[in-house]
Amino acid sequence: MHNFDKLCLNKQINRALVFANFSKPTIIQHKIIPHVLNRNDVLGVAQTGTGKTAAYILPIIHNITLDTSRYQKKSCKTIIIAPTRELATQVFENAKLFSKYLSIRLTLIVGGVKPKPQLKSLEKGVDIIVGTPGRIMDHIRSGGLTLSSTKTIVLDEADQMLDLGFMPDIKKIHKSLPKQRQTIFMTATMLDQVKNIALNFLNNHKEVNLSPKATPIEKIKQKVILVKQSDKLSKLKAIIEEHKIFQSIIFTRTKKRADNLAKALCKNDINSASFHGDKRQSQRNRILNSFKVGKLNFLIATDIAARGIDIKDIMFIINYDLPMQPEIYVHRVGRSARAGKEGTAISFCDSTEKNRLKDIEKLIGYKLKSEVEKSLDLKKSNDDNSTVKKKRTIKNKPFFKKKRSNSKKKKIKKNLNKNKTFND
Ligand code: AMP
Repeated sequence: MHNFDKLCLNKQINRALVFANFSKPTIIQHKIIPHVLNRNDVLGVAQTGTGKTAAYILPIIHNITLDTSRYQKKSCKTIIIAPTRELATQVFENAKLFSKYLSIRLTLIVGGVKPKPQLKSLEKGVDIIVGTPGRIMDHIRSGGLTLSSTKTIVLDEADQMLDLGFMPDIKKIHKSLPKQRQTIFMTATMLDQVKNIALNFLNNHKEVNLSPKATPIEKIKQKVILVKQSDKLSKLKAIIEEHKIFQSIIFTRTKKRADNLAKALCKNDINSASFHGDKRQSQRNRILNSFKVGKLNFLIATDIAARGIDIKDIMFIINYDLPMQPEIYVHRVGRSARAGKEGTAISFCDSTEKNRLKDIEKLIGYKLKSEVEKSLDLKKSNDDNSTVKKKRTIKNKPFFKKKRSNSKKKKIKKNLNKNKTFND
């Protein structure tokens, strides 16, 4: 593979690449950069952590250096949209890094902070806006931003941006751009139904698909542990101890479960903090920064941290709960093994989650290596201790059981929860 010089990027970008220690392009960069330089519409699909951000940022910065058109007030030449504030901030930092030796006007437009400074920065017009859809729409509605002279739009995590929740804003934003524009979609997962929607936005596009099936990269070792809901906390503590895990992102299904788990871990002297959309932005920034610098060991997160977030050297991802959408699994585990490193993803699956596990395995196209937690291993416990078997037949029922009556359920729950410290 050739190095960056051969891509004919602006010299000052090459200088910044040397500064950033990027010596040669990754495969996705090698394939995408020429298309973006040619101002083609692009649909880029590649596994998480393989360098998608630089694949579009570098040629966009290069094209801006060639653009001699005047700045339009309250406008931008390129707009990059990401689903979360954290991801937008990360992309913004990348843009800053690679335009380090150039005079490029960049602005970050995200929610959770005061809008006035953002409006001020837009007054004279900028080269690149990186932002989240909600706040961008706020500025468009208030007249603080117009996209009538914007030439390029990028949707990072495009499949999520084309999902129902974001779709109305994305449609409006896209409509407010001129007809002659460049549209770039980048994603790690692109299901067929979303792709059909994406095609409506693209014109004569070039497609680079390095991950036709939505699979995690091979460098991630993956394992599922079949476990009872009530045993998840003790199993988690055991795993942390067994693998001597220094840092990990632990994903839960809900914000409340993230809060409760963080509390329970802290009670056990495991340095953790929850991270989700109900936290103030200043808290979110503080927590993420302390995790990045290694002051915080365990980030207990909802799917707000599932996509795009690039934190170096995360070796372990733990799915305390399986995600509701199978593709989120691929994004979550992709927070480890970034930039060619190794990683391990351990997922808990309780009896209510078996269908989610099936969906994940269907999506990634293979069965995950699984292990049955001891308390669920009927045969083993029967062989080990027949007296225990008699007293605790309920506990030793097979893992995925038929529904029980409500009164029975209550009784079982009471038994199982006797020593439980963590409740949903
Ligand atoms: P991304 O998929 O864009 O989030 O990138 C994943 C990680 O790979 C980030 O930490 C990047 O800084 C790093 N990275 C991307 N491209 C390169 C490259 N060409 N050389 C070295 N590191 C890279």
